[in-house]
Amino acid sequence: MFEKANSQHTRPAQTVLPMLSSATMNTQTPSSPERVDFIREIVAADLRDGRCQSVVTRFPPEPNGYLHIGHAKSICLNFGVAQEFGGRCNLRLDDTNPVKEEQEYVDSIMTDVRWLGFDWGEHLYFASDYFEQLYEWAVDLIETGKAYVDDLSADEIREYRGTLTEPGKPSPWRDRPVEESLDLFARMRAGEFPNGARVLRAKIDMAAPNINLRDPIMYRIVHAQHPRTGDAWCVYPIYDFAHGQSDAIEGITHSICTLEFQDHRPLYDWYVDNLPVPSHPHQYEFARLNLTHTVLSKRTLLRLVNEEHVRGWDDPRMPTLSGLRRRGFPAEGIRDFVTMIGVAKADSVVEVEMFEHAVRTVLNRTSLRRFAVLDPLKVVIENYPEGLTEEMEVLNNPEDLSAGSRSVPFARELWIERDDFMEDPPKKFFRLAPGREVRLRSAYFVTCHEVVKDADGKVVELRCTYDPDTRGGSAPDGRRPKATLHWVSAEHAVAAEVRLYEHLFNSPFPGTDGRDLFEDLNPDSETVLRGCFVEPALADAPIGETVQFERLGYFAADQDSASGALVFNRTLTLKDSWAKLQAQGRHDTA
Ligand code: ATP
Ligand code: MG
Repeated sequence: MFEKANSQHTRPAQTVLPMLSSATMNTQTPSSPERVDFIREIVAADLRDGRCQSVVTRFPPEPNGYLHIGHAKSICLNFGVAQEFGGRCNLRLDDTNPVKEEQEYVDSIMTDVRWLGFDWGEHLYFASDYFEQLYEWAVDLIETGKAYVDDLSADEIREYRGTLTEPGKPSPWRDRPVEESLDLFARMRAGEFPNGARVLRAKIDMAAPNINLRDPIMYRIVHAQHPRTGDAWCVYPIYDFAHGQSDAIEGITHSICTLEFQDHRPLYDWYVDNLPVPSHPHQYEFARLNLTHTVLSKRTLLRLVNEEHVRGWDDPRMPTLSGLRRRGFPAEGIRDFVTMIGVAKADSVVEVEMFEHAVRTVLNRTSLRRFAVLDPLKVVIENYPEGLTEEMEVLNNPEDLSAGSRSVPFARELWIERDDFMEDPPKKFFRLAPGREVRLRSAYFVTCHEVVKDADGKVVELRCTYDPDTRGGSAPDGRRPKATLHWVSAEHAVAAEVRLYEHLFNSPFPGTDGRDLFEDLNPDSETVLRGCFVEPALADAPIGETVQFERLGYFAADQDSASGALVFNRTLTLKDSWAKLQAQGRHDTA
């Protein structure tokens, strides 16, 4: 009852929706300036018809957790609309609940919004900056007989509130004299009463069909340190009392929020109608982002962290912006995805594969190609001179020739991927096998002649020969091996740890069908590979910059690399299942 509107109540049905059908999906290219959705239509009309002179929006996170991909939708919408219409967007921290809020969250929110590519300039605000004003307005409402101090307990208040089918009944304190409420409210502020002893409530209508209007709580007693106001206060405004007035103070013209606040709009309107606020913001609701295989509730994300299912808010498996960043997802890919899904009023669940597709599209264009061997098998080229090293020119990005090339050292002993070799290959296996020739990318053709095994019969080395006339990867006689493998020189390779990631939740709809959410956790969401080898150019790979390990996927150097051994996170594999489904003409998964 003291909390903000809870998204859990409005979780959409468990289907993957029309959102994915070509009819409703916004398929305009990400760079298209005219992304028209109902919010942008409203803003354009308000400007055209003079209902507002300029646009002011805000992104209002509560600093009780890290921002996630769902917030990115709201950030891109609020900052995007302001940018496109020449207005401004404030960043407002809605810090009205000191028990759950922390400075760490405030800092991470600012970092993440900037990283996503948006700037609030000087317009950083905190709801706590308005505590004095909000208190005065609460006193105004008491004085005009529109608010009262209630001595009922939280349980009693809930009981008196009624249900969707039954009206509520008035508290016995509802008609206490104004003077008495004023006195008690002042003493609540002064710290005379313990937590929960009394609350301040708006006097609206205990029989209102909309339960939010049945004398909602405005203030409660909380003896707690606030990250910004310290112990200056021991009464705190409920989110619903702070939110609309904060918008009004900041002159917000379009107060954009998610659907769970729709039923609260009449209450926000009641407050601004009954208070001497400087402006009357209008609220518009849109559908929150839901993704398959993903949980986007801060409460649950906090549990994942606290119960150590992940290593922290920025664990690469988390859907938080800091987790995605650490995993190697570029901000541009996140923004493109938000553009692709558009803004609608109907709840939906988007396939996470679509998100990954948007990110791959960016990475394919921008990421440098590199050689890395995750499960190394030694290759010795018997006819290659001992001690010789040749520098092979390899393109950095065939999709972007301006990215140039690099030289990669080639020598007699190499590492190749263990699964690029089979001793008894089945018909369709074209990679290395005894007696077979393959191309080593941008180097030479090699042929395997002998397989060396250890005492247990495990293949530990391949003895090969190379054809010196195939330098650079092509033969003068035009012959073409069926497979091209990546490789690293054993002498020059740099050892690395590689962390492979899969969905954190196995089920597309975690915690549905009567299962506990945590039962759906994927026990194999992280696989740590040690003893991998990467080409020397990766020795000082910038943390967080994503490269493509040829033939393997996209990887980003992890911040753990700073403490010594190189660590890479797999951002994504190369396989784009969403693009494949689209190509097959399958638009939904129903
Ligand atoms: P959660 O439900 O994850 O706890 P919240 O709504 O409580 O999130 P806030 O910090 O209040 O988190 O969110 C700030 C803004 O981001 C709000 O305007 C909210 O509507 C929006 N937002 C939160 N989650 C999503 C989402 N999944 N999709 C779109 N917008 C979201
Ligand atoms: Mg919420």
